[in-house]
Amino acid sequence: MPYRKKIIAGNWKMNKTNNEAKVIVHDLILEIGKFDDADIVICPPFTALSIVSEMLLDIQNIKLGAQNLHQASHGAYTGEVSAAMLRELFVRHVIIGHSERRQYFGETDKLVAEKIKAALGAALKPIVCIGETLQQREANQWKKVIETQIRGGISGLDEKEISEVVVAYEPVWAIGTGKVATGEQAQEVHAFARGIFKDIYGQAVSDKLRIQYGGSVKPENAQELLNQPDIDGALVGGASLDARSFTAIVKNSCAK
Ligand code: PEP
Repeated sequence: MPYRKKIIAGNWKMNKTNNEAKVIVHDLILEIGKFDDADIVICPPFTALSIVSEMLLDIQNIKLGAQNLHQASHGAYTGEVSAAMLRELFVRHVIIGHSERRQYFGETDKLVAEKIKAALGAALKPIVCIGETLQQREANQWKKVIETQIRGGISGLDEKEISEVVVAYEPVWAIGTGKVATGEQAQEVHAFARGIFKDIYGQAVSDKLRIQYGGSVKPENAQELLNQPDIDGALVGGASLDARSFTAIVKNSCAK
């Protein structure tokens, strides 16, 4: 089986003031600042990026991520943030197409594709979210949804570009609900998604592509999910807001 280093990312969403961010980052540095078995990314809100960036300056193993960016390089887009602005703060990753952005801010696969290009243009590594709603799962449409999101949002890259991308499969029905997909359910979707990438980019690319699972990941379920052959990490929302639970997820992600 091809080796893919696990990648665990914490998405803080619209949580944590700068003072709160300082406290959790201090604890994370103590606990996992030297943990090297998995790649670790934390994604604070824009307002905390600067202070967290400073705190992580000498920490090799925890990388900084943003939760969104604008697709244009600069200009009259009130309230938006560009890839270059993120890059200057030593941001390395950026979440694109999270289901909350698709649901509340009308983001489409076409926009996702544009944002991926903007991120790559500034040497940011996109974490691109895909996933079906409960209604789509119940109507047995998840394959169609996943394929459409991949072909509409994550195709059209060259081999170098796709190698910078991490995909996050996040079933919308499992985000923040406490309902987690079973290891088997998640594995089925991950294997299906990898098959689509193989069809678009070929075997070598799909073997290397990391696909995270996201949706109510907790210390208790991380190991079962992350031991699945096509699950290469986790995108963690709620449980990343607490240093102890995020640390436990990171450590459990590599436990056999
Ligand atoms: C997320 O928002 O990316 C997420 C997976 O949230 P939670 O872990 O809280 O379900």
